[in-house]
Amino acid sequence: MRDFTHDHRWLSINTATLRRQHGQERPLIEILDDCARHGIRAVSPWRDQVAAAGLQATGRTLRAHGFELSGYCRGGMFTAADAAGLQLARDDNLRALDEACELNAACLVLVVGALPGALQGQAAHKDIALSRQQVFDGIAALLEQARARRMPLAIEPLHPMYAADRACVNTLEQALDLCDALDPQRSGALGVAVDLYHVWWDPKLQAQIERAGRERLLAFHVCDWLTPTTDLLNDRGMMGDGVIDIRQARGWVEANGFAGYSEVEIFSHRWWALSGEQTLQTCIERHRRCV
Ligand code: ZN
Repeated sequence: MRDFTHDHRWLSINTATLRRQHGQERPLIEILDDCARHGIRAVSPWRDQVAAAGLQATGRTLRAHGFELSGYCRGGMFTAADAAGLQLARDDNLRALDEACELNAACLVLVVGALPGALQGQAAHKDIALSRQQVFDGIAALLEQARARRMPLAIEPLHPMYAADRACVNTLEQALDLCDALDPQRSGALGVAVDLYHVWWDPKLQAQIERAGRERLLAFHVCDWLTPTTDLLNDRGMMGDGVIDIRQARGWVEANGFAGYSEVEIFSHRWWALSGEQTLQTCIERHRRCV
């Protein structure tokens, strides 16, 4: 297992972690400049931040700083209530794929979607099996395009509390079932993003990480699970402040061949209320001590 205690060369910053300071939204370019100043070598930007900064300008800044992209957030949301909605999702995923290629990302992260309309407050139906079928079909179609562009797709299972509105793939086992069905040859084109916030509780976590193996372990996201958690989306904890045994889980992914970045992804009103400088310095310190 790699020793992270002396430096932060394997720390990647998911740019949502720094998207606000003192409660205010920050421009992506400013976030990237901050990361570079602190010796960060990799980031994972969000599409809305990239769109606001401009794809070309983002690419120039990433190259100027020599950043790698541990992932690109995100594609997915494959489900819809009708054919027109499914087509919109397909088109948007192709754009996400092209952006990931333009920015030279390690993978396109997929949050797959759930009951259509639920995120907006009114689910169009209650048929979660139908949503899962649409996810299967959506990934199958996107995978052909992703193979042609040599851009790996990383399915990110989300905690079951999001099963209705954000992702109907909620365990690593489910995600790997999709991988096995759609990419039985384990080509490296399809795998998983292991985000500990979503999967830390799973009694099958270690076994499924072993099942995934090197070809399927495409990304590793860390933060912590706070007790109590006060917001279902934006109360993720800083590493070391909660109940996740992060180092044990990192040991499992590394024992199975993962040698990439540990990506810090913290959506948190608590941390967004502070300065970006304080949040980033804390990420670096906790990466050494708790990851
Ligand atoms: Zn994640």
